[in-house]
Amino acid sequence: MKKIVPFVSGCDEETTNLWLEHLQGQMSEYEIVLFEKLSEEQKLSSTVAIVANPNPKDIAQLKNLKWIQSFWAGVEKLLQDLPNSSFKIVRMTDPQLANTMAESVLAWTLYLHKNMPLYLKQQKQKQWKQHIETLPEERNILVLGLGNLGEKSAKKLKENGFSVSGWARSKKEIKGVETFYGNDGLTQALKSADIVVCLLPLTDETKNLLDKSKLDLLHNKASIINFARGAIIDYEYLSKKLDNKELCHAVLDVFDIEPLPSSSSLWENENITVLPHISAPTNMKTASRIASKNILEYFEKGIIPPFIDTKKGY
Ligand code: NAP
Repeated sequence: MKKIVPFVSGCDEETTNLWLEHLQGQMSEYEIVLFEKLSEEQKLSSTVAIVANPNPKDIAQLKNLKWIQSFWAGVEKLLQDLPNSSFKIVRMTDPQLANTMAESVLAWTLYLHKNMPLYLKQQKQKQWKQHIETLPEERNILVLGLGNLGEKSAKKLKENGFSVSGWARSKKEIKGVETFYGNDGLTQALKSADIVVCLLPLTDETKNLLDKSKLDLLHNKASIINFARGAIIDYEYLSKKLDNKELCHAVLDVFDIEPLPSSSSLWENENITVLPHISAPTNMKTASRIASKNILEYFEKGIIPPFIDTKKGY
């Protein structure tokens, strides 16, 4: 009989079935079983599960879990839903996801660098006006967070001629990128940034990190790209600064409440580009391959992949 691997999914039926298909295709020697179809005995004998937006009550029934493999890169919701859990949480770290994010960072940096929001406004007013173009090396792009996604994005920006700086919790060395760390480092980095790209995880420390005092450090031609989590930036104050021309533009892909409610004033702000959380979607094919590889290694060699440090929150 094949060994069972539970899949605990809170996704809609169509998405869940697609995940199942991809997983089963990668793990023919194991049987991937939806949580709802597990017997009581199977629930108790499971030491690992694959999860996608799981219901915490379902996870609580898998009493002998040693670890769970999530399909998403961000884990703040899992940590909130599963506090003090005895098992390890492994997030998705997929080089393909980092490539996709780096492409999005480059694309939306170019959107700002090439003044596209301004030309869109001009078209609406049938205004024919050319603006002087800044060279990429004259634009300082500051990447906040230099992990899997941030480092790849910083390198991609550098390859495309931008002047790039980065900020993380610990000191980093990335060729051609000026790096900062710690609170003083952030203050210094923000003062000279033209475009700030946020790729930090949402933790107790990063919640509302870019508050009034930090946003006020930016010069009035600076722009922001947030591809991480909405709660890291004070959007209300950001909107005010954009209205007052104290900042240039913001590209926001992530929000406290998603989908962004139609009542939100962010939709109406002509200096904000609203995106529906699309900067780096998990790819089912590559993510299933990584989850399967991790689980096979665990069954064959007893190795649990690098897991979340619950104290740090990422
Ligand atoms: P990661 O590999 O864990 O990297 C996180 C980076 O943030 C690290 O460089 C870390 O510094 C830094 N950091 C964490 N807390 C900090 C603090 N208090 N002060 C300064 N730096 C801090 O994470 P990742 O894979 O790059 O992903 C980042 C986030 O992107 C995820 O958590 C998720 O929320 C978001 N995301 C968004 C999308 C989307 O479609 N919009 C898709 C995927 C992921 P150290 O290196 O010094 O530890």
